[in-house]
Amino acid sequence: MYTRPLARLIEELQRLPGIGAKTAQRLALHLINRPVTEIEALAQALLEAKQTVKHCSICFNWSAEDPCEICRSPQRDPSLWCVVAEVKDLIALERTREFKGRYHVLGGLISPMNGIGVDQLHIRELVARVAQEKPRELIFAISPSVEGEVTMHVIKDFLKQVSPTLYMTRLAFGLPMGSELEYADEVTLARALEARREL
Ligand SMILES: [Zn+2]
Repeated sequence: MYTRPLARLIEELQRLPGIGAKTAQRLALHLINRPVTEIEALAQALLEAKQTVKHCSICFNWSAEDPCEICRSPQRDPSLWCVVAEVKDLIALERTREFKGRYHVLGGLISPMNGIGVDQLHIRELVARVAQEKPRELIFAISPSVEGEVTMHVIKDFLKQVSPTLYMTRLAFGLPMGSELEYADEVTLARALEARREL
């Protein structure tokens, strides 16, 4: 149906999340119609992002610099941390402009069915970081799904051992069970942060 290079482009685009066969075809036909300079800019942006953006060695945020901007900022409260599952959740919280502390990105949630346990996530790094830096409060900004609940409680048990006085809280969600943090609007998320309660 397609000439070989076009078929390959469609195939690659279809690997992207949320891109079905029809969208991939539409994107490919759109791209092939654009000037070569535009395509080069896109290809370069992809490569540059891939080559320069790494995990922050402290909080596991994506950053072209290590430590990331948030970990380096003297403006941020070093004793108030927010634990999130993914970088997209950190971005959602930053959008509220309400949180002035630091982060720790887990890289996912515990999910035995998908082979994701403590060692597949940045949990041991969090425990070591808490033991060393001794923050005042740790907010779990994690969606209240089954996996989210398990993850929060496993981490809580680990942290109780290294820092018995650590105050641990969770977002007060005005959201349905299992709803994703990233889809919450800024006002709802800011309120959930403000009204956080002890875990
Ligand atoms: Zn960082």
